[in-house]
Amino acid sequence: MTDKRTYVVLLGAPGAGKGTQAKLLEQATGLPQVSTGDIFRYNLKNETELGKLAKSYMDKGALVPDDVTIRMVEDRLAQPDAARGAIMDGFPRTLAQADAFDRLVAPFGGVAVAPVIVIDDEETVYRITGRRSCRACGSVYHIILNPPKVEGRCDKDNGELYQRDDDQEATVRNRLLVYYKQTAPLIGYYYAKGLLREVNGGETIELVQAALRSLIKLK
Ligand code: ADP
Ligand code: ADP
Repeated sequence: MTDKRTYVVLLGAPGAGKGTQAKLLEQATGLPQVSTGDIFRYNLKNETELGKLAKSYMDKGALVPDDVTIRMVEDRLAQPDAARGAIMDGFPRTLAQADAFDRLVAPFGGVAVAPVIVIDDEETVYRITGRRSCRACGSVYHIILNPPKVEGRCDKDNGELYQRDDDQEATVRNRLLVYYKQTAPLIGYYYAKGLLREVNGGETIELVQAALRSLIKLK
């Protein structure tokens, strides 16, 4: 039997709903969500060398250098829970990362599909500035669009909800610029490979999830 794995690359501007959808896809498919943003934040919290390096970039809304990010993803994908593939959330984010990822997953049948979640640019800013995240489990809410049952508390584990330092408006606008300069070219990259699928991210979380699930065929 060949070692086939299912790698899904979620694309979309900051706030498109990648993290929200990746968590739901993890439950539906059993493939782990691999969020480079979450891994960087974990390292930041634990004050590791990687966290210290990443902080200066994250604070500005800039990208952490490719070599560091790629090595981190290689380590993550070598973990046993990723033996059947992964839902990639926030990686790759540059063409160099996409090329490196292609080489990494080529022995396992390559990238399965690259859905791009599309939303309006102003919606991006509105969604990100209202985003709140659980300190304990990382679950994501929105103060208006997707509020928790009890204000300031996570529905799942009652953890404290907080606003990420980089979710302030000025940083969000810079992240949007970084997205267009460095990450949006990946849409053409995956289109050319026949892997791109467009999903309307302006729909409800449930409808977006249904659209994404219909695109994923486990190998
Ligand atoms: P990304 O990982 O792409 O940056 P998130 O999943 O963190 O995006 O979502 C950004 C914000 O938008 C969060 O506050 C989330 O609750 C909210 N959100 C996500 N999907 C939807 C949706 N379909 N409709 C309304 N709000 C959404
Ligand atoms: P969002 O979901 O709001 O787009 P993330 O949590 O994915 O944000 O990322 C937060 C920050 O972590 C980014 O602004 C960037 O500094 C860093 N980061 C995350 N993923 C990558 C990546 N693939 N390459 C470089 N930097 C990254």
